[in-house]
Amino acid sequence: MTWRASLLTLYPDMFPGPLGQSLAGRALASGAWSLEARDMRAFATDRHRTVDDTPFGGGPGMVLRPDIVDAAIAAVDDGRPLICLTPRGTPLTQATIRALAAGPGLIALCGRFEGIDQRVIEARAMQEISIGDYVLSGGEPAAIVLLDACIRLLPGVMNTGASAHEESFALPLLEYPHYTRPALWQGRPVPDVLVSGHHAEIAAWRRHQAETLTRQRRPDLWHAYRQLPDEATRPMEPPSEGPRP
Ligand code: SAH
Repeated sequence: MTWRASLLTLYPDMFPGPLGQSLAGRALASGAWSLEARDMRAFATDRHRTVDDTPFGGGPGMVLRPDIVDAAIAAVDDGRPLICLTPRGTPLTQATIRALAAGPGLIALCGRFEGIDQRVIEARAMQEISIGDYVLSGGEPAAIVLLDACIRLLPGVMNTGASAHEESFALPLLEYPHYTRPALWQGRPVPDVLVSGHHAEIAAWRRHQAETLTRQRRPDLWHAYRQLPDEATRPMEPPSEGPRP
């Protein structure tokens, strides 16, 4: 079944954008997912096609009107998760991505200007999601990030299930470093263990690298990892050997 994404935006021409290329683009062409970008300006009711107004209480910028946003939502709402992209939202995680990818798709509201009238966010019980602690000029790049991360998890989109399983955040760990040919580059050899052929040693080395990196760079993830029961954290055997790079 096709996973369906509907975007509500003032800039529909920004889509599919990067999602029309490479893995996501091929998946779009093959029908693994579908994309609909709706121009919220089409739901304006005055002859100037106004979608925003000045904030009550004063202050800079403009705010998207709740009646316009609500009409745009009504045009696409069919029970799919309704997401408002906003720096005030819950930080996006791989767990959220996994849950969204397992569902029927999503509807994403892309803000502009100072943001969106709070009443429509509440009235529509939107899931507020932030892609990080920085401010974009609009929700469209955030929607592209969100969709890209979901699409690669859809059935049949990535050719190996193993790579989704082993990578960063499958456990609360950053991924181990990767190496390919040439085996010696600018005087730098690849780590001996990786050319040893010992699968168990390779798995243990990779796990050690992942743990060291996580401890150094992400104390928050390291703390979560240390809380896991032992069997969840045992090194995984590498997948059966495919063609060497
Ligand atoms: N005045 C707002 C920022 C508005 S930025 C504030 O200070 O919180 C304009 C739009 O860009 C927002 O409505 C939102 O849709 C989008 N946006 C900006 N940063 C984002 C982020 N980190 N994650 C998700 N969406 C973001």
